[in-house]
Amino acid sequence: MTEHITTVAGVAVDTRHWIGGERVASVETFTDVSPIDGSTLGEISRGTATEAAAAVAAARAAFPAWAATSRAERARILHAIADGVEKRIEDLANVETLDNGALLRSHRRGVMPRVAHNFRFFADWLLKLEHEDFASRGHTNHVSWDPAGPCVLITPWNAPLMLATWKVAPALAAGNTVILKPAEWSPLTASLLADIAAEAGLPAGVLNVVQGYGTEVGNALVSHPDVRRISFTGSVPTAQHIARAAAANLTPLSLELGGKSPLLVFADADLDLAVDLAVEQYDNAGQVCLAATRILVEEAVSDEFTRRFVEKASRLRQGDPRDEGTDLGPNIHPRQLEKIDGFVRRALDDGARAVIGGKRKDALYYEPTLLTDVAQDSEIVQEEVFGPVLTLQTFGDEEEAVRFANDTRFGLAATLVTGDHERAKRVTARLVAGTVWVNCFFVRDLQAPFGGSRHSGVGREGGTWSFDFYCDVKNTVTAPNGWQDHG
Ligand code: NAD
Repeated sequence: MTEHITTVAGVAVDTRHWIGGERVASVETFTDVSPIDGSTLGEISRGTATEAAAAVAAARAAFPAWAATSRAERARILHAIADGVEKRIEDLANVETLDNGALLRSHRRGVMPRVAHNFRFFADWLLKLEHEDFASRGHTNHVSWDPAGPCVLITPWNAPLMLATWKVAPALAAGNTVILKPAEWSPLTASLLADIAAEAGLPAGVLNVVQGYGTEVGNALVSHPDVRRISFTGSVPTAQHIARAAAANLTPLSLELGGKSPLLVFADADLDLAVDLAVEQYDNAGQVCLAATRILVEEAVSDEFTRRFVEKASRLRQGDPRDEGTDLGPNIHPRQLEKIDGFVRRALDDGARAVIGGKRKDALYYEPTLLTDVAQDSEIVQEEVFGPVLTLQTFGDEEEAVRFANDTRFGLAATLVTGDHERAKRVTARLVAGTVWVNCFFVRDLQAPFGGSRHSGVGREGGTWSFDFYCDVKNTVTAPNGWQDHG
């Protein structure tokens, strides 16, 4: 054990950056704290413009060889990374839970297997990726997916490794090199990923991990002229900073941002299903970008829906996310809790009524909250809270439901519960959202396009859309009979 290793849940985690296949320490560090009990998890190397430049240089140096590696070889290494993730699911799940406070059982059974799947899926998709050649006015058109170069990937804390690998895997599959900057509130599993990738045989410099604050190392990375792609998941204000920085170099961007998604419950819905889906919105203590935080219920069934919702939500168990029986863990940080509480206080002052919850509990826990008597133009209906806070509004007819659903600046997702197939088609066609779920929620295949409309994002990733973004797509047009026969 060296001074650069911290032991978290019995797992050794290197606190240094991973640049060009080597561990690199910064002079300065930042303290990583567990939201579960406030304990210090480690002193993490705090990158600056120097480490950002070193990481981009390493990614640039490694690019030509990695880009020239055959698709089959890249796919083989990505599968080897997936094998490494699968071998370390327990380690990754335990470390992630201590770092961001999300449920251990979800990390074990859902999230970390999905992290491995991210690598397997994009490895396999790469091998299938073809575009039919086509003829036009006698000429042949051939589309190729050329690697673009070093990619900067910047990710948030609410699902750290899941969201990081959802970018890392397609970027590497496409033949690019990567600089990953995890969120400063949850940096640990990215460091473990660097170990796993190295053990899987990923060449030095192909994946680099730099840690630190967004305004320091993050800003230096997105401003760097040698970066060919920036993919960012996080908040709208940060996205606006990043877009300004990227504009100077015209670096292509993919932005996956916040939401204020609606859950529409029509009178013809299976109400038990609607209630199950509504209560599910408290998952991860409400720290889910896709969460349907605005429940819109048709007037005729709103009393019955509310009664059943309260009954089910009151059975949620809040507590230590490492306990198997816990449904809701803590929120990530005191600052975040302040923010959540501020939204709720202002809504209550404004005349909202708390059907359940409405206040903070001990430590970083916030009561699952449902607010009603809220106006469509109020802050609590319009702004993302990113905590266990839902609003409930009623609507009279389909027209009003669609109007409420679309009336925010976001457009990430929408969920609709109805027993009428024709209604589902009609309403879906009018919703502004990157993803619409009908009688289900959070079901997602990696080949589907994913992203948001309006302030919820720019661009789509997933399946071929990821390769569209991470590649310099090239069309080669060849003239007929253009070849000289020198034979
Ligand atoms: P954030 O914007 O504060 O931070 C995200 C990342 O950006 C962090 O790594 C941070 O260090 C970095 N960053 C901050 N300032 C930067 C700068 N100037 N330059 C470069 N990097 C910078 O977001 P957050 O609070 O960590 O995450 C929560 C937000 O993310 C919510 O709005 C949520 O809805 C959104 N989110 C979206 C999706 C999606 O897929 N659409 C998924 C998860 C979370």
